[in-house]
Amino acid sequence: MRKYSGKYGFLIIHVLLITFLFHTVLNAQESFNGHREQMVKRQIQARGISDKKVLMAFRNVERHKFVLPEYIRYAYNDSPLPIEEGQTISQPYIVAFMTEALELEQSDKVLEIGTGSGYQAAILAEICDSVFTVEIFEKLGNKAKQLFAELGYENIHCKIGDGYKGWPEYAPFDAIIVTCSPTHVPQPLQDQLAEGGRMIIPVGTSPVQNLVLLTKKKGKIREEKVLPVRFVPMLDEEGEKYFP
Ligand code: SAH
Repeated sequence: MRKYSGKYGFLIIHVLLITFLFHTVLNAQESFNGHREQMVKRQIQARGISDKKVLMAFRNVERHKFVLPEYIRYAYNDSPLPIEEGQTISQPYIVAFMTEALELEQSDKVLEIGTGSGYQAAILAEICDSVFTVEIFEKLGNKAKQLFAELGYENIHCKIGDGYKGWPEYAPFDAIIVTCSPTHVPQPLQDQLAEGGRMIIPVGTSPVQNLVLLTKKKGKIREEKVLPVRFVPMLDEEGEKYFP
């Protein structure tokens, strides 16, 4: 009898431990879901973002999976956060503003320059059939590729290279989003924009730039400054900034 009670006691402790761990994970998940909903309502909808596809994408993508472990608790805060290689994941509102400005349709083919954490690409992939994203740092690009695979984003194509040159093999693109700042709009990106296409890009010298919205109509590009912003600089393969 004694022999059995010892065995059962051990079993009960195991079951309790597993139940406890299961509940902890479940509670953390629920708390992330709650914070994400607050982020959508307070930071994004309250500031005027109303495109239903954009709001849906922000509800679906788990931002806490794209930040470094030490910043997980700040994943749904109203701010950018550091990622590896001295780069940043942008503030959720800025990601939403830029995404909405592109007036995306499901059938659009989108090019992103500056994959970083992969968060912006995942938002785009929730809305559009195909997303192409270019990252200059191998470490960031590889990490993002792995995350896209883990999360099942088969419609994101990621390459490591200099995004100043775009991705000519898959051009033209209906929309282009640039998440690092060059001092001028790269000519290759203008050339790779489809007729009727839209491009959103921060242009200027650090630390403050202008977010510029470009549209291509009958082969002509029209430019409009839409918001002052602060992005990391666009680098070339030598790690230098792009100068005119
Ligand atoms: N969209 C990202 C934001 C990353 S910050 C996200 O959602 O997390 C901008 C990124 O642009 C950085 O990862 C930086 O390494 C990258 N970058 C800088 N210059 C680049 C270039 N010439 N081509 C491609 N990526 C570049």
